Amino acid sequence: MANFAQFNLSKEMVSALEKLGYKEPSPVQGKVIPKALRGDSILCQSETGSGKTHSYLIPILDRLDLNLPRLQAIVICPSRELARQVYDFAFALSKYFPKLKVRLFTSSEEKSENEQGLSIAPQLVIGTPGRLKDLLAEDYKLNLRGVKTLVLDEADMLMDMGYFEDIDALRSLLREDLQVMVFSATLEQGLKEKLRKYAGSDFLYEGEENKSSGNVSHHLIDIKHVGKNEALIRFLKIRQPYLALVFASKKEDVNSAYASVKEAGYSAVLFSGDLQTRERRKTIRMIKENRYQVVVCSDLLSRGIDIEDVTDVISLDLPNDLTYYYHRAGRTARFGKSGDSWIFYDDDSTKLPLTLIQQGVKFDFSILRKEGLESDPVGLLPKTKLKKKKAFEDPEEAKEIKIAKARTRVDKVKPGYKRKQKWAVEKVKNKYRRKAIKKKIRANLHGKSE
Ligand code: AMP
Repeated sequence: MANFAQFNLSKEMVSALEKLGYKEPSPVQGKVIPKALRGDSILCQSETGSGKTHSYLIPILDRLDLNLPRLQAIVICPSRELARQVYDFAFALSKYFPKLKVRLFTSSEEKSENEQGLSIAPQLVIGTPGRLKDLLAEDYKLNLRGVKTLVLDEADMLMDMGYFEDIDALRSLLREDLQVMVFSATLEQGLKEKLRKYAGSDFLYEGEENKSSGNVSHHLIDIKHVGKNEALIRFLKIRQPYLALVFASKKEDVNSAYASVKEAGYSAVLFSGDLQTRERRKTIRMIKENRYQVVVCSDLLSRGIDIEDVTDVISLDLPNDLTYYYHRAGRTARFGKSGDSWIFYDDDSTKLPLTLIQQGVKFDFSILRKEGLESDPVGLLPKTKLKKKKAFEDPEEAKEIKIAKARTRVDKVKPGYKRKQKWAVEKVKNKYRRKAIKKKIRANLHGKSE
């Protein structure tokens, strides 16, 4: 079995990981840690929940000179929540390294907290791009000459959000032979080339692109035109999830779903962009402490946030940018656990689920009834694939059906014409069915008498 001791890590780090209960490295850690320990730059596409944060934190911390109270590594994340999560992981490790100083730099609301942290120069800082740029370049003249590693986490999102200008400004202050580690959930072709150039690296690790963890079971639920909120309450009653994240794309849908869930008596919380930073942080902490059964949220929570015990992800609708579906689904089945992702649909909203099917997501299908979930073997699968046209045993049957149809066809559509045609076709089919049965009986009799 692979273990952390096989890497060129310090004894202190191996023992810290042991204490954290990390027994063996995940695949991404197995590939990235040895390279990163050598100081190589890296471009890495990694599945959500694959352990990618530690694939850079472990080598960074191990390469820091803890006797030097000087900044040596910077991690940039696209949102405050993601930055805080990385900070929490680093903080958990820092307990085993008394001289390690890690600081979090995010919004201005946290400014005083940030300032206090700067009385002793941290060796590692984690933060969002704008705030980091200000703090490092303008407000405080932190000595940047000692910075040997820069990490861009969720780089595709950093790029989507237009943060690269800030990042470039920051990078221009750092030394030439910088180790750059770029992590991205997706690496579509154009993006891959850009990020590869940015990392200046030929080393590329690709996990299972664009897909959430393989341990997620995906389900499509036909809610049969029941309102989404009512469907949600029915579903929660049937499913009784341990911890469910309920996603909706529009703000008003998030709000109204939350109101319904509360009204139905669930212990629930709302998480959306409307919350103030402080509230967001508190909410995430309370979710992680398993204080709620249901979290109703916008896609703000779909990226990267690590909440260990999510058992169910419910999408009341699908986001037009379907990569967000993969991120939503990736909130469950974290690190080897299993989990379920449920999508509600009805006849008017089949387009995006069908696209997911085309993209290769394997779904099972159910219909939401009052009494429970009824399995639907066909669901949205292309019907033609399932129902192969039966070959006619007797070619005469096909001919007669054609004739029956022609006879009942009318130029002007009259009431009942379809029904008449159906009866005529049924009559022919029955005739041939009877014929086939008689033939079978005769064959049986014949066989027995022999
Ligand atoms: P990430 O993909 O970085 O969001 O990590 C997902 C989760 O896996 C986090 O909760 C980590 O604490 C956990 N984790 C990371 N590495 C390991 C490991 N080697 N063994 C067990 N858990 C881990």
